[in-house]
Amino acid sequence: MKKVIIVGNGMVGYKFCEKLAAHANRSDFEIVVFGEEARPAYDRVHLSEYFSLKSSEPLLLAPRAWYEENDIELRTSEMISEIDPKSKLVLTHKNEAFHYDYLILATGSSPFIPPLEGVSKPGVFIYRTIEDLEGIEEYAHKMKNKGRFKAAVLGGGLLGLEAANATKELGMETHVIEFAPRLMPRQLDQAASDLLKSKIEDLGISVHLSKNSKQILGENEMTGIEFHDEEKASYDMLVISAGIRPRDELAISAGIVTGSRGGIEVNNKMQTSDPSIYAIGEVALYNNGIYGLVAPGYEMASVAVDQITGGDKLMSPTIDMSTKLKLVGTEVASFGDPFIDDEQTTAITYENKQKGIYKRINITKDGKKLLGGILVGDASDYNSLFQLYINSLPLPEDAEELILGSRGEGSSSTMGSALDLPDSAQICSCEAVSKGAICDSLKSGACTNLKEVVQSTKASSCCGGCKPMVVDLVNETLKSLGQEVKETVCEHFDYSRQELYDLIKINKIGGYDEALDKYGKGHGCEICKPVMASIFASIFMETANRQVPIQDSNDRFLANIQRNGTYSVVPRVPGGEITPDKLMVLGEVAKKYDLYTKITGGQRIDLFGAQLHELPLIWQELIDAGFESGHAYGKSLRTVKSCVGSTWCRYGMHDSVSFAIRIEERYKGLRSPHKLKGGVSGCIRECAEARGKDFGIIAVEGGWNLYVCGNGGATPKHAVLLASQLDDETCIKYLDRFLIYYIRTAAPLMRTAPWLDKLEGGIDYLKKVVVEDSLGLGEELENEMEELVNRYACEWKEAIESPEMMKRFKHFVNTDETDDRLVFVPMRDQKMPKPW
Ligand SMILES: Cc1cc2nc3c(=O)[nH]c(=O)nc-3n(C[C@H](O)[C@H](O)[C@H](O)COP(=O)(O)OP(=O)(O)OC[C@H]3O[C@@H](n4cnc5c(N)ncnc54)[C@H](O)[C@@H]3O)c2cc1C
Ligand code: SF4
Repeated sequence: MKKVIIVGNGMVGYKFCEKLAAHANRSDFEIVVFGEEARPAYDRVHLSEYFSLKSSEPLLLAPRAWYEENDIELRTSEMISEIDPKSKLVLTHKNEAFHYDYLILATGSSPFIPPLEGVSKPGVFIYRTIEDLEGIEEYAHKMKNKGRFKAAVLGGGLLGLEAANATKELGMETHVIEFAPRLMPRQLDQAASDLLKSKIEDLGISVHLSKNSKQILGENEMTGIEFHDEEKASYDMLVISAGIRPRDELAISAGIVTGSRGGIEVNNKMQTSDPSIYAIGEVALYNNGIYGLVAPGYEMASVAVDQITGGDKLMSPTIDMSTKLKLVGTEVASFGDPFIDDEQTTAITYENKQKGIYKRINITKDGKKLLGGILVGDASDYNSLFQLYINSLPLPEDAEELILGSRGEGSSSTMGSALDLPDSAQICSCEAVSKGAICDSLKSGACTNLKEVVQSTKASSCCGGCKPMVVDLVNETLKSLGQEVKETVCEHFDYSRQELYDLIKINKIGGYDEALDKYGKGHGCEICKPVMASIFASIFMETANRQVPIQDSNDRFLANIQRNGTYSVVPRVPGGEITPDKLMVLGEVAKKYDLYTKITGGQRIDLFGAQLHELPLIWQELIDAGFESGHAYGKSLRTVKSCVGSTWCRYGMHDSVSFAIRIEERYKGLRSPHKLKGGVSGCIRECAEARGKDFGIIAVEGGWNLYVCGNGGATPKHAVLLASQLDDETCIKYLDRFLIYYIRTAAPLMRTAPWLDKLEGGIDYLKKVVVEDSLGLGEELENEMEELVNRYACEWKEAIESPEMMKRFKHFVNTDETDDRLVFVPMRDQKMPKPW
C-alpha cells in the first residue's frame, strides 16, 4: 500500500481526497491530510455567506464523519513545517515526522500584503479565512460603538469588491482604493469598469482609482492612509485584498523548483521537480500562471489523482478563466479573452447607462467564432455565450443578437435548447461535467431528479453559475424519458407558474415582496421577477407602471430597446385602420424627432430611433392625438390583423375590419405568458393570415370559424379549428374562455402553440373546456376576462399623467444631454444605426 500525504485541506486538497476516495484503486492507498486551519475544508468561494449564516457548518465541503467513513486521516490544526524529499518525510510544527510515497502540496495562497509602513497595526485585516471574517466583524462593531464608521478596502479586484460588500453590510461607510485606473483590471475593460464603478457608487461604496498607498497612519491602531500623491485620508479600519501569493515556502526550503514570482512549478501531470511530489490548486505554477479560481484547481486535483493511480490524464494546455459573479449586488461575468483587440477580431459592444448594463463580445472577423466577452449589470446571457465560446459553436448570422436578443423579444435565447448542445459540451466548468454526463445519469436510471444529479455528478455544486443550464438539461431529459416534470419558476419559488397564479389570485397577494415572503425564499432573481409581474398584470390588470423594479427591462421603460440602444415607439392601430389625420400626426412626430418609420406585418407603424429622454415627449404628443400604447414591448396582446373584408372586398362574407377592431379593443393591454397575436379574415382566402396567429377568425357561411394556437416565427404552426359558424357574441365568449385558460395554465414564455402541444388531450380537450364547458369554468373565465377588460388603462397615458409614475423618466426628460455615441447612417431617405 502506498502512502499519500496531502498538505493543505482547502478546497483543492479536499477535492483531491474526494476523487481518490472514489477511485477504483482506492484500496491501494493510505491517505493522510494535514490542514493548518482548525476546521475541515470549507467553501471559500462562498466565504462571505459566513456573515449571514453565522456558522461555519453549512460551508463545510464535508463533515469530519465523511473523512472517517472514507478511511482518510484528517489532521486539522496541524501545519507541515518541513519536507525532506530525500527521505520522503514531512515534519509537522510539533516535530512529528511522517513518511510518504506521494506528497501532494495543496497549500493554496495567502493574500498579498504590500510592504507599506504600518501595515501590521491593529485595524488592518485580510480576507481569506473564517477567522479573518470574525476579526473584521468584531472590529467593525467595536469601531461603530465608538462612533467611527469608515472602512477602506485596498484592492478593487474580485476579492476586494467582495470584501467591500462585506464591510458595507456590516454598516461601515466603505471606500475601495485601487492602484490601477479601473476596477477588476483582469476581467473588465475601461467601459465595463466605469459602469461597475457607477453602480457600486450608487449603492453607497466610494471608489478611488489610480491611488497609490504610501503608509498606514495611526499610533496604537490604524487611523488612515497616506498616499503617494501626499493626500491623507482617515479610515477606522482597513481590509487588504491586493492579490494573492502562492504558499510555496515549504517547497522553496525543500529545494523544489519554484517560479521567480512564486508558485511551485509543475508539468502537465501536476508533478513538481521531484517526481514524487505534486502541487495542485493556487500554489501550483502551471504554464507560467497561477490561477486564482477554483475550477482549474479541481482539474489539477483530478489530474494528480489519475496520475498516481496509474492513469495518463494530463492538464489542458490552456486554462479557462471565465467567471460569473454577483459583486455588490451587480452581475459581472467575463469569459474567454475579454480584451482581445486585433485585426482578426471584431468587438461588439452594447451599453445602456440608464439601466446600468454593459455587454461586449469579441468575435472573429468572419463572424463565425466567439472568442470572449464581458457582461456587467445583466449576465443572463452568460451561460449561452459561454457554451458558444467553449464549444466553438457556430454563431447566428447577426452576432449582435447574442447580446441584444431578437428585437422586441427581450431574451436572446440564440442558442436554442440546452439539449441541442453536443454531448461533449462542458456545462459545469468548476467540476468539469459534460452535458453527456448529466443526461446519462438520468437515462441510465442512476438519478431520478435534479438533487440526485447534482449529488452524483457534482454539476453546479461549486460556484453555481451553470445552475440554470443544469436545471434545463435535467427537465428536458426527464421529459424526453416520458416523466412528468414539475417546472418550478426558479430557485426562489418552489411552485410552477400556474400554482403561483392560483396562490396570488386566491389569497389576494398585493405585491412581489409579499409573494416572496409567503411563498418564496431569498431575494428573487431576473427570472422570477418578470414572471410575477406578468402574473400580477394578468390577474389584476396591473400595468407595467406598478412594481417597476420587477418588470422585464423593456416593460420598465414601456418601449423596446433597439440594436444601438435607442427605443421604438409603437402606437396601437386597432385592426390596422387609421384616419388620414392620425397618419399625419405620426408623420409629424416622426419628422420632429427624426425617427425611422416602417409599416409592420402587424399593420401598424413603428417609429424607430427614439432616445430614452424623448419617449415621454413623443408619447405626450401621440396621446394628445388619441393614440394609445401598442404594448409592442410587453408579453401581451399585440395586434389583431384584418383584411378589408366585406366593406370593400367583393369576396368578403363579413365585416372583418369591424370585428378585428372590436376584438383588439377588447383584449388590448391583456398580459399573458407570452405575446399574443390575432387575425380576422373576411373569407377563406385568408388575406389576414389569421391561422398563423394565436387566435384566428375566418368568415364562413353562417358566421365565424375560430382557430387557435397558431404561431409564425421560427417554428410556424397553423392554428387549429376550435369552433365553427359562430355569431359575434359566441365567438368572443369562446375567445374569453380560451385566453384566460391559456393565461392561467401556461408556463412562463410559452406561446399558445407549444402550450397546446403539451396540453393533455390536445385540441379535443381544449374544445371540451372551452366549447362544452366540461370543467364548469366557462362563466368564471368569462367574468374574469370581463373584469380585466373593464380595468384597462393605457399605460403610457397613465405614466404621463402621474407624477409618481413619471419619476422613472424625470431624470431623462430634464436632461439636455443626448447620447453622442449614437451614430446613424442614411438609408433610402431615412436613417439607420451605423452597422457594426
Ligand atoms: C472571498 C473569496 C471569494 C472567492 N470567490 C471565488 C469565486 O467566486 N470563484 C472562484 O472560482 N474562486 C473564488 N475564490 C478563490 C477560491 O476560493 C480559491 O481558488 C480556492 O479556494 C483555492 O483552493 P486551494 O485549495 O488551492 O487553496 P486554499 O483554499 O487557500 O487552501 C489551502 C489550505 O492549505 C492550508 N495550508 C497552507 N500551508 C499549509 C501547511 N504548511 N500545512 C498545513 N496546511 C497548510 C491553508 O491554511 C489552507 O487551508 C474566492 C476566494 C476568496 C477568498
Ligand atoms: S380574405 Fe377574403 S374578404 Fe378578406 S380581403 Fe381576402 S378575399 Fe377579401
